[in-house]
Amino acid sequence: MVAVSDKDADMRDPNFDLTAAIDAMPDTHLLCRDFGHTWRRFMARHVPAHHVYEQTLRCTRCKTLRERVLNERGIVVSSKYVYPDGYLVKGMGYLAGEDRGLIRLAAIQSDLAKQVA
Ligand SMILES: [Zn+2]
Repeated sequence: MVAVSDKDADMRDPNFDLTAAIDAMPDTHLLCRDFGHTWRRFMARHVPAHHVYEQTLRCTRCKTLRERVLNERGIVVSSKYVYPDGYLVKGMGYLAGEDRGLIRLAAIQSDLAKQVA
C-alpha cells in the first residue's frame, strides 16, 4: 500500500511510456481511473483524546482507501488516499486532457473485447 496526500499529484517523467503503462493496467484500475472509485463506508470512529473523527472509505473495485480526519466541528484536518500495490505507476504522474482519453479508450476496448469473447 502507498499513501498519498491530496497535494501530492506529481509530474510525468519525460521518458515515460504512457501507452505501455496503460496496456499493462488491470481492468479494475482502468475503470477506476476512467469513472472514478466506487466508495463504500469502511471505518469510522471518534477519538475523543484527540478531539477528532477518523473516517475511511474503500473502493469496492480496486481497494484504494480514502482516509480523512475531521475535527469535532466537521472541518477536514487531513486527508489522504492509500493505494493498493500496483495502482500507482512510477513516473506516470497525474493524467489529464488527452491522457484521460487514452484511459477511456483502453477501458472501452477492454469492454468490447469481453463482449466478443
Ligand atoms: Zn478504485
